[in-house]
Amino acid sequence: MAVASEPPGAYRAAVVHRFREPLTIDQVPAPELAPGQVRVKVEASGLCHTDIHAAHGDWPVKPNPPFTPGHEGVGIVTELGPGAIEVAVGDRVALPWLAYACGVCDYCVSGRETLCLQQRNMGYSIDGGFGEYASAFARYVVRVPEGIDPLDAAPLTCAGVTMYKAVKVGGTRSTDLVAVFGVGGLGHLAIQYAAIAGGHVVAVDLFDEKLELARELGAEFTVNANKEDPAEAIQRLGGANQALAIAASPKAFAQAYGSLRRGGTLVFVGLPADNRVELPIFETVLGAINMVGSIVGTRTDLREVFQLHGAGKTRLIREVRPLDSVNESMADVEAGKVAARVVFEL
Ligand code: NAD
Ligand code: ZN
Ligand code: ZN
Repeated sequence: MAVASEPPGAYRAAVVHRFREPLTIDQVPAPELAPGQVRVKVEASGLCHTDIHAAHGDWPVKPNPPFTPGHEGVGIVTELGPGAIEVAVGDRVALPWLAYACGVCDYCVSGRETLCLQQRNMGYSIDGGFGEYASAFARYVVRVPEGIDPLDAAPLTCAGVTMYKAVKVGGTRSTDLVAVFGVGGLGHLAIQYAAIAGGHVVAVDLFDEKLELARELGAEFTVNANKEDPAEAIQRLGGANQALAIAASPKAFAQAYGSLRRGGTLVFVGLPADNRVELPIFETVLGAINMVGSIVGTRTDLREVFQLHGAGKTRLIREVRPLDSVNESMADVEAGKVAARVVFEL
């Protein structure tokens, strides 16, 4: 049995003090653990585009600065708060977006905990994984199985679970054509989960390097949206059964809609700052188009994601960087200069 280590007095973490201003790396005092919480020594933490939206205050519901982003943290439990019984000191755990849910509402008890109205979110309403330590609710962390590299587990904790769930929600079946709009952190895993479900993948992005990567990861077709209209190109393939709108751009959502065949499903995943998209009513009705939002995934989904990775079915494309590069890394993600995911090693 592992022995709890001394609580840290203070530790280094990346902090947003004001929206749209650079983050600073501060010494932050270690908070006392609330009932049910554990302290985790973070080993790896992925940079999701959501962290950039958080740091910019892009969305209708905003975090309250100062705060530490990060909802792809992975690390080792070092200390148990009062009543934390779900994990033990020494366990390796993932700290996902769903940091806390009530456990008793209709959503929680029907396997839809990510819809809980009492939820708290890692790196948004509570401090996240961009630090040497983080505190988390033991009931909502997910154990990382032995043999999975924490640098791989990190991007699986949001990008992986989100796209695994989105493919489930879209209902991909073998022989379906799945259009993946945006081959970034989420998209590079979307291609793999769609293929695991038996789908054929057409990937869309603005950069040829991303499309090359998409092909390496199993996409059969690719479209550069800067060079041709992806909706037309995908219609020439017969139209998509599911289109996964991941890129943080309303234009990509409209094109994803336009790429569908009749009866197809548009899955909303990306969360652009520009919160509107215009879609036609007539074509939606006559084409019996489905539209559905998909928000991260449950603890069960994340367990399944780890199981698939442990079985060798997924591959992470990631650039390992120090936390000090947080501002530069956010700028690189926004510029499309990152091969899929940046993972901070702590
Ligand atoms: P990312 O920056 O890693 O990837 C986005 C990709 O989209 C990039 O490769 C970029 O080149 C491409 N792109 C940009 N504009 C495009 C366009 N018009 N057409 C085609 N491709 C385009 O971002 P990410 O981390 O994968 O996150 C994507 C979005 O998903 C963000 O808005 C994020 O907040 C959101 N998100 C949603 C959930 C959820 O649960 N629904 C979970 C995590 C992230
Ligand atoms: Zn995320
Ligand atoms: Zn609930």
